Amino acid sequence: MSKNQNKTGSYSFFNCIEKNFDKAAQFISIEKGLLEQIKACNSVYRMHFPVKIGKEIKVIEAYRVQHSHHKLPCKGGIRYSMKVNQDEIMTLAALMTYKCAIVDVPFGGAKGGIKIDPQTISSENIEKITRRYTSELIKKNFIGPGIDVPAPDYGTGEREMSWIFDTFLSLRSGDVDALACVTGKPVSQGGVRGRKEATGLGVFYGIRELCHVKEDMYSVGLDVGLVGKKIIIQGLGNVGYHAASFFHENGAIIIALAEREGAIYNKKGLNVSKVFLHLKNNGSILNFPEAKNIKNTEKALELECDILIPAALENVIHKNNANRIKAKIIGEAANGPITPEADEILDKKGVIIVPDIYLNAGGVTVSYFEWLKNLSHVRYGRMEKKFRENVNAEFLKVIETFCKKTISIKEKKMILRGPREIDLVRSGLEDTMINGFHKICDIKKSLKIENMRTAAFVLSINKIIDSYERLGIFP
Ligand code: NAD
Repeated sequence: MSKNQNKTGSYSFFNCIEKNFDKAAQFISIEKGLLEQIKACNSVYRMHFPVKIGKEIKVIEAYRVQHSHHKLPCKGGIRYSMKVNQDEIMTLAALMTYKCAIVDVPFGGAKGGIKIDPQTISSENIEKITRRYTSELIKKNFIGPGIDVPAPDYGTGEREMSWIFDTFLSLRSGDVDALACVTGKPVSQGGVRGRKEATGLGVFYGIRELCHVKEDMYSVGLDVGLVGKKIIIQGLGNVGYHAASFFHENGAIIIALAEREGAIYNKKGLNVSKVFLHLKNNGSILNFPEAKNIKNTEKALELECDILIPAALENVIHKNNANRIKAKIIGEAANGPITPEADEILDKKGVIIVPDIYLNAGGVTVSYFEWLKNLSHVRYGRMEKKFRENVNAEFLKVIETFCKKTISIKEKKMILRGPREIDLVRSGLEDTMINGFHKICDIKKSLKIENMRTAAFVLSINKIIDSYERLGIFP
């Protein structure tokens, strides 16, 4: 048994990331101790606090981990799940560090978690727990616009982010930058348009970019382009739902969707918004009229398809099912969905894996835009929208006079339009995802690295080394 393996013979989640890091480190010539510093988690805050639920006092276990302080503030989501534990939160914090570096978001990585099952707790009690957790973070200086900025993750959303902001503001009243203490807020509470769907949209942009690389598509026997590709998505939450919607709207065929209670399948394709409506009305995706039920939800991962998108949880593809995975491309929308053993099996099979540290970075990218908006106290596009429209109108007049032609009202509307916040956020996200993809590919090619994950880690580690060097910490 290697030193990276625990007694059960499988890797701990943190070991998985260390293993990926070590593979990449072989391509970087820098002193070992310095790499150890980048790998280590800087601060781990484990807390227990009491909350009165009904007539009982419940002791709640929770965490906030700051993996790296090479850039500040730290940034990372907060998840609510009964599976929350220190190892998991440390790993997710580390992933955040590497992710931010890849997409040029100037934050250190962090993550938080509360060990509760939000599906079995009333919203009043979730609010109590969220507010108490926030006060604990304030007490220990683990939250603040320049310190550590949480965001949504598994089991949390805009509602929880609003409660965090409100608690922070009530304890730090007068802080003019308080809105920037948390991202993923509703737009009416200082959020940015486009944050909710950002991770799923980023997944779409990343996979679309890959589908346009001829050599990669031919290597797995697929045609170039996204249209007509058969896709399976696990998890119809924030990330999975939006990714599924964007793939569907852009011509890909969603043949299966998997949730906790089971999966649904239709080889001709599922209409994502209809499935979502069915889920809302019935509390389950099962028995969707235009699909076949698959009772064992894990089996959906093993169906024939072009692209598999795990968008729910970590470690869902492991050594026991990796050999049965038939997808030619796996896009890691969730954090850490593939164990190292499965990674090796899939690599040998020639499956292209688009790694989480790149593919799901859309969320933190747009969180960065939200943080900047909160610090500048002005909506994106507010200053230039009208100006741009006026300039465009003048420009159009000149063209019409010059060509002696009048442009149709529909075309005029399109050309004259000044940028709205959503346009700017989405174009910033698209540009970030396209750039990140090509930077990873360039490193993969130039260093003759076999897979995207190792290349992504090399890119990320090099950027972190660069920041440390500029701080004067590394000689
Ligand atoms: P979410 O809570 O909105 O959705 C998760 C979905 O997965 C839920 O619908 C849940 O019912 C489903 N699910 C749970 N167990 C399942 C199982 N065994 N099989 C199939 N489905 C199952 O969470 P989310 O925000 O969409 O996050 C999903 C993943 O993406 C997590 O790994 C998270 O860390 C990662 N991620 C999220 C964001 C973000 O912006 N929300 C950003 C980056 C990464």
